[in-house]
Amino acid sequence: MPDYVYFFEEGKADGNAKMKALLGGKGANLAEMAQLDIPVPPGFTITTDICTYYYQHSGEYPLELKGQVEEALHKLEGIMGRKFGDPENPLLVSVRSGAAISMPGMMDTVLNLGLNDHTVLGLIKQTGDERFAYDCYRRFIAMYGDVVLGLKPQSKDEHDPFDELIEEMRKKRGVEFDNQLSASDLKELVERYKALIRERKKVEFRHDPWDQLWGTITAVFGSWNNPRAIAYREINNIPDTMGTAVSVQSMVFGNMGEDCGTGVGFTRNPATGENVFWGEYLINAQGEDVVAGIRTPQPINRQQKSEGSGPSLDETMPEIYDQLERIRSKLDRHYRDMQDIEFTIENKKLWMLQTRAGNRTVFASVKIAVDMVREGIISKQEALMRVDPDQLDQLLRPTFDPKAQRDAVKDGNLLTSGLNAGPGAATGRVVFNAHDAEEWAMRGEVVILVRLETSPDDIRGMHASRGILTARGGMTSHAALVARQMGKVCVVGCSDLEIDYHNRRMTIGDRVIREGQYLSLDGSAGDVFAGQIPTRPSEVLRVIIDKSLAPQRSQIYQNYVALMGWADEFRRLQIWTNADQPNQAEEAIAFGAEGIGLTRTEHMFFEGDRIEAVREMILAENSQGRERALAKLLPMQKEDFKGLFKVMREKPVTIRTLDPPLHEFLPKETDDKAIQKLATKLGVPYEQLFAKVVSLHEANPMLGHRGCRLGVTYPEITRMQARAVMEAACEVAREGMDVRPEIMIPLVGDAAEFKNQRDVVEAVAREVMEEYEVDIEYHIGTMIEVPRGAMTADEIAEYAEFFSFGTNDLTQTVFGISRDDAGKFLPAYVSNKIWEYDPFARLDQKGVGGLMEIAVHKGRSVRPDIKIGICGEHGGDPSSVEFCHRIGLDYVSCSPYRIPVATLAAARAAIKEKLAKEKLPKEDSASAAVPMVVKTG
Ligand code: PEP
Ligand code: MG
Repeated sequence: MPDYVYFFEEGKADGNAKMKALLGGKGANLAEMAQLDIPVPPGFTITTDICTYYYQHSGEYPLELKGQVEEALHKLEGIMGRKFGDPENPLLVSVRSGAAISMPGMMDTVLNLGLNDHTVLGLIKQTGDERFAYDCYRRFIAMYGDVVLGLKPQSKDEHDPFDELIEEMRKKRGVEFDNQLSASDLKELVERYKALIRERKKVEFRHDPWDQLWGTITAVFGSWNNPRAIAYREINNIPDTMGTAVSVQSMVFGNMGEDCGTGVGFTRNPATGENVFWGEYLINAQGEDVVAGIRTPQPINRQQKSEGSGPSLDETMPEIYDQLERIRSKLDRHYRDMQDIEFTIENKKLWMLQTRAGNRTVFASVKIAVDMVREGIISKQEALMRVDPDQLDQLLRPTFDPKAQRDAVKDGNLLTSGLNAGPGAATGRVVFNAHDAEEWAMRGEVVILVRLETSPDDIRGMHASRGILTARGGMTSHAALVARQMGKVCVVGCSDLEIDYHNRRMTIGDRVIREGQYLSLDGSAGDVFAGQIPTRPSEVLRVIIDKSLAPQRSQIYQNYVALMGWADEFRRLQIWTNADQPNQAEEAIAFGAEGIGLTRTEHMFFEGDRIEAVREMILAENSQGRERALAKLLPMQKEDFKGLFKVMREKPVTIRTLDPPLHEFLPKETDDKAIQKLATKLGVPYEQLFAKVVSLHEANPMLGHRGCRLGVTYPEITRMQARAVMEAACEVAREGMDVRPEIMIPLVGDAAEFKNQRDVVEAVAREVMEEYEVDIEYHIGTMIEVPRGAMTADEIAEYAEFFSFGTNDLTQTVFGISRDDAGKFLPAYVSNKIWEYDPFARLDQKGVGGLMEIAVHKGRSVRPDIKIGICGEHGGDPSSVEFCHRIGLDYVSCSPYRIPVATLAAARAAIKEKLAKEKLPKEDSASAAVPMVVKTG
């Protein structure tokens, strides 16, 4: 009989941490903690196989499940000495979801299950605390109502209906907090909650605990496919087929009195990565209270205290704190990664409820990886596998311009401060609900989402916002966790912030900010400013690019450099850059570029008044006329190239001959007369027809007179450019510098085209070298960017010394779509899952990649040492870089700011390959933190 249910209790368990796919992260880690003798409340996990079965069989379960669940529950009764549904001594359980990859808060949880009008009396007997018992009961009904019966707010401006009832009760009693309500208040609330269910859902609350249990299990499996979970999976590329497990665990209570409490923590600081215990707790509360941000929690230890915060756990319960501190280092070392933990203290006894790899900012991610190598906990290669390349990109994010920020303070625009939940700086317009955030962002507005607190339903709106501000909640609130994961700037727990959703405004003291007004957030300090504050580059950029910060003064930079250094040790791919100007080349070198893979010479044609000469060339009637105009361009191009050579020195500089169609250099044409004529004929206003013409205009892939076709028809253009390159090279070489020019011919689909252009370049090169009496080592190669070029790469390789994949054009021509107007239908393709991603952002490995593989194979069959790279945008995309590694390219070339990402991706590709070869189990990707960067491609 298949095992669908895995039991765990302190000291032993059926499962372990490796079984995440089957038991979900939560279930697997509860089992592991149990085996580590860490105190966990006993329970059992129903496997993800059941979730899959449930969806494949229209909501049915396999026959064996019922018996297995009943058996496990009876075992639990035995251990706890309590009985499920017993009015004298009831066993209460929690029911929680848990997928293999953590999806914080996206699916459902129900606590205190097993309570009804009878068992609540048993709970009073067990605890001697009527108030507590009714508090548990009303919480259970609210959760059951929400999760199982779907009793939720009906409009975006409505509050939670159960919360509204409790708020009403607080007002009626004139008290501020829930814990000031009496037992009879709570008893009355229980009745009101039940009435609310009756009224809204037209059903009675279920008293039978077994009905409650199966209803909840089914609802939790059902929550795998709720809209927010689907959205979360979509954003984080988590497969829909993975499914969730369900863990049923005996309840422990953090809300049974002043010697109880609950908290969440991180084994290292999730914002900075510092190796200190970091967390928050609440006395006399249930777990959800901390995460939902209903009360602002207290710091776990003295180091973390700030002005106005309540006593820390090491002050209020020092023994518990010491025990937790021991568990934190045990878990940190055992899992060899920073953990996010949840605990409950019931009558001075500590229980661990959860451990999982903790989400962290990029700063923490890099620091923890680097520190753990130095602490001897993980290897360099593991450290590299721990940092998501896309996340690394956030290290290059802006902060506020300090002067502007000081001025904002001086001008009285610092409104308030909260907790610094997501670092970075953001400025944008205020919106008060997630739906508006999405809508405004679609219109191109940069928005800051302001909420009392966020909930998983806000996920899309959070994704659309530049920054997030909440009035409630701590560093581990939903807003804080999700924002960090998304790399959003976030400030939480701004308690002096009043938000009026109905009138769309917020008030801080006497300052009112309305929807649409500007707000700026400093997510690193937790400060909130009125108005716009300009931003400036990241610390890493300040060291590397503007050199305004000394390397030794930036720990962030030091960690970054260590990681990049290790990446260099592992990667095989070289990292080149696409750069058209010396300053771009300088930046690229600072990031570690080893060559220029693409200089688009046409970009230089738009500088200053050069465009005049270009237009003169286009309008010339014959080659003499063109040559006259080109002669004007020659010295300018030469200077450009000299600039690049001087920066790059002995590193290769790949210069592409003119590529775009000539109309790009002329004003856009619109056939006004024809539109006028048609408008009259159709009897519509000219403006209306004109607007339609513009909206329907398509810029299809440029397949016309461009690329090498220009050079073939106007060889004088290639001659001028080859001369400019070679004269520049000779002059720089004469100054005593090494130069490595590589001349690249675009859009080649036939060996004869390439040979034609190569002959032109070679003749000029010989001429120039003779004139200068300098010998330059130069190479001539081609772009592979049309399918025929790939299919005949063997013939082209007879003449070409290198290939560079132009995957922008290759994607256009393989798919038959245009990168300029695919935006009209691409989002629909992606949302309808016709395509999984935008093929211009991430390489289509099957189609475009298939052709690349053919070209590599054919090219090398003729010229085994042919150098092959990529210079399309995909050269900076991690999954595409990995593919380039796999098919054996020599280098990837990307924009300067993507170099760190490409470098890390290249190292990870090499490590993955090594691990596969060694046939070692792959890096446990499920135990690594969920990437905090949201992929939009
Ligand atoms: C390409 O096509 O991938 C390429 C790099 O060239 P461009 O983007 O200039 O067409
Ligand atoms: Mg191209």
